[in-house]
Amino acid sequence: MAGEYERQWPPRRRKKQTMPKWKRMLRKYWPPIRFGLLLLALAGMVCLVILLAVNLSKRPAGDDRLETQLPTTTEAGPDETQVMAMAQQLVEEADFIAAGYDYQKAITMLQEFAYYDQVPQLAEKVTEYQELDSQLVPYAEMQNITHVFFHSLIVDTDRAFDKEYTNAGYNQYMTTIDEFVKMMEQMYNRGFVLVSPYQVAYEVTDAAGTRFTYGEIRLPAGKKPFIMSQDDVNYYGYMIGETEGVGDTPAFPDVTGDGFAHKIVIGEDGYPTCEYMDADGNITTGDYDLVPVLETFIREHPDFAYRGARAVLGMTGYEGVFGYRTKPSYEAALGSAAYQKEIEEAKKVAQCLRDHGWILASHSYGHPRYGDLPPEKVRTDSDKWENTVQPVIGDCDVILYPNGSDIAGIGQYTFDNEKFAILYEDGYRYFFNVDSHVYWSQLGTNYYRGGRRNLDGYRMYHNPNKLEDLFEVSKIFDSARPTPVPKI
Ligand SMILES: [Zn+2]
Repeated sequence: MAGEYERQWPPRRRKKQTMPKWKRMLRKYWPPIRFGLLLLALAGMVCLVILLAVNLSKRPAGDDRLETQLPTTTEAGPDETQVMAMAQQLVEEADFIAAGYDYQKAITMLQEFAYYDQVPQLAEKVTEYQELDSQLVPYAEMQNITHVFFHSLIVDTDRAFDKEYTNAGYNQYMTTIDEFVKMMEQMYNRGFVLVSPYQVAYEVTDAAGTRFTYGEIRLPAGKKPFIMSQDDVNYYGYMIGETEGVGDTPAFPDVTGDGFAHKIVIGEDGYPTCEYMDADGNITTGDYDLVPVLETFIREHPDFAYRGARAVLGMTGYEGVFGYRTKPSYEAALGSAAYQKEIEEAKKVAQCLRDHGWILASHSYGHPRYGDLPPEKVRTDSDKWENTVQPVIGDCDVILYPNGSDIAGIGQYTFDNEKFAILYEDGYRYFFNVDSHVYWSQLGTNYYRGGRRNLDGYRMYHNPNKLEDLFEVSKIFDSARPTPVPKI
């Protein structure tokens, strides 16, 4: 090494004489020093990469909202205060998951924390969750799970009940936000817990073949699962503005609207919320329909939703979905750019809803009574849905029959029923009609079917006794409703 150096950099005598000793030494040994420094730097970088990779792989799994933010990794790593702060945030998130009875997920979240061993409280939490988990019991009556449903919730009762021609319909088929919240409070206090139909029954394949089976829902003793759905999550022209879109002319919200939200949007916090125009024409965003109202309720009562379950939302196609004017024939009236924007926004809302546990369902394309239609008309309607709504909201396997009109009586569906064959081929596996019984459900070999109870003005006014298992109607019925609620 030294010889090489001599050959490459022969020191000149004159300089050698004038150069200070330290400088000469540095010059002489610079190449090996430089080589050493380079090696050190390389080693440092390798360590950094390894540290980063290890930390990333130890991040807890879960949705965005729950992901713990680890501070930017440095070679030193977070100090004790930072670790404690991260652990505290993680526990808050795990507590929310645990409150929804998913103790295993909560335990995994804590155990996968990179600094789990440094925070003894985490192990105590794990023990607590294990204890609570051991107290859960599988719900025994899976065939007796009640299913309730709503239409768009009324925000402004003054406007909803001020017009002759819509008064009756809103009074009969709709529920006010105030009523909905009171219903949820009473149901919560009675031990009801929201579950998803996918948790109730699903397809399995094993040695015995492929078939539908009941799932296992594990709840504390005394709690009762229920399913919820909402029909016509479309914000139709007739509800949101007097300019009720005719033919291929879409309607947009204006001050003549009947006091309902007019679209679902994504809130600043990433949660789905609603846009609403008040009587003065001001547009605000907030809890103006079932989706955001229920999200807020669950945030305040996380034990009201089983393992992230939300309601089923049914959409028709003849005006668009979630308040977006996505019907293809609107393109001409809106112009291509504006129409594409409606589609893109509706797609984002659909994804946001799914990400938060909502199930998107068909409510048919044109809202016909499937029970009364000949099979070829069911096929036409289902195809229209598939061609116009599915590209916007994605595949779905749930259908909420319009007008509750089922394609068959209470016997099992078979492929001899042409309408069933059509809907099955189109991908549907969950079928829901309307039925006033507390529960009616049917587990087929290749589907799940159930009845749904309308919790609206009509049912509350005319058959409060049929709702006794859920709540006390007298404490819910909105005094702003005109009475009597007209007979249907
Ligand atoms: Zn409907």
